[in-house]
Amino acid sequence: MNAKVWLVGAGPGDPELLTLKAVRALREADVVLIDDLVNTAVLEHCPNARIIPVGKRGGCRSTPQAFIHRLMLRYTRHGKCVVRLKGGDPCIFGRGGEEAQWLRERGVEVELVNGITAGLAGATQCDIPLTLRGVARGVTLVTAHTQDDSSLNWQALAQGGTTLVIYMGVAKLSEIREQLLAGGMAADTPVAMIENASLPHQRECRSDLTAMEKDACAFELKSPAILVIGTVAACATSSLWERGLPAMMAADQSA
Ligand code: SAH
Repeated sequence: MNAKVWLVGAGPGDPELLTLKAVRALREADVVLIDDLVNTAVLEHCPNARIIPVGKRGGCRSTPQAFIHRLMLRYTRHGKCVVRLKGGDPCIFGRGGEEAQWLRERGVEVELVNGITAGLAGATQCDIPLTLRGVARGVTLVTAHTQDDSSLNWQALAQGGTTLVIYMGVAKLSEIREQLLAGGMAADTPVAMIENASLPHQRECRSDLTAMEKDACAFELKSPAILVIGTVAACATSSLWERGLPAMMAADQSA
C-alpha cells in the first residue's frame, strides 16, 4: 500500500520552478487535487493520475474545505497515493498546516513538499532582492485578507524596517496605504506590484506608498498579485542608486 497524501507546492506558475521532489510526488500520484492558481502544465508529470480541480479563489464559488479533507481521506482509505497540489508553497497562506494536522489526526501519512512562494518568485523575477546588505535586513510576508477581519499590527509593519511582501492585497490597496502611512512609513517608500509572477503574462507596476493605489488603478492591476514595499522595491531602476545604495552597503559590515 502506498496510501499517503503529499501536500505539494507547485510554485508560482512557471513549470520550471517546480522542485524535483514535487515531480517525484506527481509521478507516484494516483489522484491529484489541484488548486486553481496552479499552472496545469505541471500535470505533464502525472499523465495517468486522476485530476480533480478543487479551486478556492476568493470571491468565487469554491470547494468547501471540509469536502477536500474528506476526499483526501477517502482516497487514502482506498489505498491511493494522493497529491494535493497548491500554488506557491503549501504552508504560505496555503492551509498546508491545517490539512496536514487534520489528516494526521486520522492516521493518514502526510508529507509536505516546499514550493517557491509567489512573493519570493515575483520579487526575483523583477530583479528585486528582498534582503540587501545595508538596506533591508529582513522580509515580512503578510496577507491583507483575513477570514475574521482581524487586523494586522500596521504600526509594527510600518516601522519594522523589513521589506514587506503582501499577498491578497489587490482589493485592499487603499487600506494598506492608509495604515502604513498612519503607522509612520515614509510616503516615498518604493512599492512594486507584481501580477502573475513568473508567468509569460507577468506584469509589474512600480510606484511608491503615496501613489500606489492611483497607479494600480491606472495600471488595472488584477489578482493574483503581490506587493513588495520597501527600499529594495526601487531596485532594477536607477532610483535605488540615487538613494545612495553604495554608501548604505559600504556602511554595513554584516554578511
Ligand atoms: N500558497 C501561495 C499563496 C496562496 S494565497 C504561495 O505560496 O504563493 C493567494 C495569493 O498569492 C494571491 O492573492 C496573490 O497575492 C499571491 N499569488 C499567487 N500566485 C501568484 C502569482 N503567480 N503572481 C503574483 N501573486 C501570486
